[in-house]
Amino acid sequence: MTDGARAATRTGPPPRETETHCPYCALQCGMILRDTDGRIEVRPREFPTNRGGLCQKGWTAAELLDHPDRLTTPLVRDPSGTLRPASWDVALDRIADGLRTIQRAHGRDAVAVFGGGGLTNEKAYALGKFARVALRTRHIDYNGRWCMSSAAAAGLRAFGVDRGLPFPLTDLGRTGTLLLVGANPAETMPPLMRHVTDQRARGGRLIVVDPRLTATARQADLHLQPLPGTDLAVANALLHIALTEGLIDREYVATRTEGFDAVRRTVAGYWPAEVERLSGVPVADLEATARALGTADSAMILTARGAEQHAKGVDTVSAYVNLALALGLPGRPHSGYGCLTGQGNGQGGREHGQKSDQLPGYRKIDDPAARAHVAGVWGVDPAELPGPGVPAYQLLDSLGTPDGPRALLVFGSNPVVSAPRAARVESRLRGLDLLVVADFLRSETAELADVVLPVAQWAEEDGTMTNLEGRVLRRRALRPPPPGVRTDLTVLAELAARLDDAPVPATTPDGPAPTTPTTTRPAVPAPRTPPDHVPAPRTAPDRFPTDPRVVFAELRRASAGGVADYAGVSWDRIESADGVFWPCPDPDGPDSPRLFADTFPTPSGRARFHAVQHRPAAEEVCADYPLHFTTGRVLAQYQSGAQTRRVAALHRAAPHGFVELHPDLADRLGVAEGDEVRVASRRGELRAPARLSPTIRPDTVFAPFHWPGAARANSVTNDALDPVSGMPEFKICAVRVERA
Ligand code: SF4
Repeated sequence: MTDGARAATRTGPPPRETETHCPYCALQCGMILRDTDGRIEVRPREFPTNRGGLCQKGWTAAELLDHPDRLTTPLVRDPSGTLRPASWDVALDRIADGLRTIQRAHGRDAVAVFGGGGLTNEKAYALGKFARVALRTRHIDYNGRWCMSSAAAAGLRAFGVDRGLPFPLTDLGRTGTLLLVGANPAETMPPLMRHVTDQRARGGRLIVVDPRLTATARQADLHLQPLPGTDLAVANALLHIALTEGLIDREYVATRTEGFDAVRRTVAGYWPAEVERLSGVPVADLEATARALGTADSAMILTARGAEQHAKGVDTVSAYVNLALALGLPGRPHSGYGCLTGQGNGQGGREHGQKSDQLPGYRKIDDPAARAHVAGVWGVDPAELPGPGVPAYQLLDSLGTPDGPRALLVFGSNPVVSAPRAARVESRLRGLDLLVVADFLRSETAELADVVLPVAQWAEEDGTMTNLEGRVLRRRALRPPPPGVRTDLTVLAELAARLDDAPVPATTPDGPAPTTPTTTRPAVPAPRTPPDHVPAPRTAPDRFPTDPRVVFAELRRASAGGVADYAGVSWDRIESADGVFWPCPDPDGPDSPRLFADTFPTPSGRARFHAVQHRPAAEEVCADYPLHFTTGRVLAQYQSGAQTRRVAALHRAAPHGFVELHPDLADRLGVAEGDEVRVASRRGELRAPARLSPTIRPDTVFAPFHWPGAARANSVTNDALDPVSGMPEFKICAVRVERA
């Protein structure tokens, strides 16, 4: 309890308060929730990441708790194609029967699971275990694949570990030169800019690489505005200049790294003048950037989605990691390379089993020792664990196809809006025999589902999140879920029990199901009932505990000895400090706020350079599609917008999508401010009002991706994938633009 609550003087029952974190992005700003007779108030809380600040999204987060659109009863699609309210038993039986029938007909991999980067660690862990143990399918992945997977892969291959920031965010405020590449925190996570303000007040320099003059770039000492898709060439040119000007930390390179010679040979070909021609960034700006990084006492290079969401995203991040290593930054005080993770639990979500190729603790699913360890914790034979599946987009693109899954369970994700080439993904979802969505609002994906399960929101359940620094935090419940709503953990336990043909454990009593029909769509054909050649999955229901504290205790055991080792992290320990940084293998030992001071977790203990070459975007401009298209966010909306579009203040601030274009381009196209424009690519089109801005390159148009329907930016985006990470090329494709 805070002092505020203790001091409260009122006649009714005392207000309840809890200290928790924002439900949205990976900054996980500290906040206090106060419930006064059902009215929920949000106040910012002093925490190292947000230092008492919140953005608009955080201030208004509680509005969704009692929102009229809140789902409080399961919905099941009837034979006429209408989603109708149903009891939990009917909904869960329908799912379990459907899954069992489909697996018997088509094999275990005919069922897939799709998770989200907003799920708590406990839920992400339980979902991965549910897929591997209860369903025994190899098909699980999550929307975090579209967020940080390129940085994750580049970090793993260079440092042997993927932790977004290998240092506390507070180090930002003390670094000499800060290079942000494809990152716009002034709009995506505004409280982070407090650290940047500190940094600049201490005399530090801020340099931003972004094709748009964003709110962040406006604050920079230097803004490099490259053509989208040329960030890699810019990084190689910066390293070329650092070499020619003698800015390399030769001792660091010799003693702490390996593989530099190949990189040196590669970047020798990146003459600044040629990179200027390719990227549009003047040689003088490239030189100034290299010097600012190479001569500062401390320096940081941070990437985000602008550099990462490309079919060459891993190589692009590697180019910036190479630059950081050559300058001797990782492990040095107030210095290093880091990735600004996007989603609230994008970091923890990828550590504990939602990724198609990973088991808890960041273990590889094809590593026999890892399989044996995790199978031991789960009480199954290692041979029963499935092998690796496929990354998120490949999974979604295979749904309903002859060799793909016939059923999909979605938890905490809205791929109808957030997936690349979204119209195609939508048609794949429509082709399924069974689509199940667990959510607390009717997202665009839920609208297509056969069964929708109403689940708890962030302020209604306990758990942990791992923020962009690798700091494990406590999410605390303010109040229980409303009647009729269950937690994801309960849903998984009940489904596991049904799949095991075991009795269903007692659960929260639900209110009566209303009977009003909702939307309609064509009825989904009943699953076929073919020969029983797949044994029923074997799962004891008590292997899926519903108490998040119990789940976390199991997660600790499963992660013990892994790269992301949580064995020494307990809820009590998190609460006694401002979170706990992993790896933390020992309950009595230290945690790890800063990595790489002495060694890297690679076999040799050295960081590894990777020589990488620029290559064109997967889709280049041409006569038919002469403009570059790129996507991003706005301050008042979050991800697919399913939540934030329903918050009145956020809707007022950003009510609809738009297409940003340079006035010179608009002039050429005969488009005026506010005119509806049509942006067409080879995959689809979007329509939205034009917003003219001199801050964007005249050869590039931009649209935010938070809106569905005609303004859906992902109708246009390219589904070309990075060959290493599976990251789609959200950030660049070729389009034509015309007045609609
Ligand atoms: S959305 Fe992100 S920046 Fe905004 S309040 Fe929440 S955690 Fe903080």
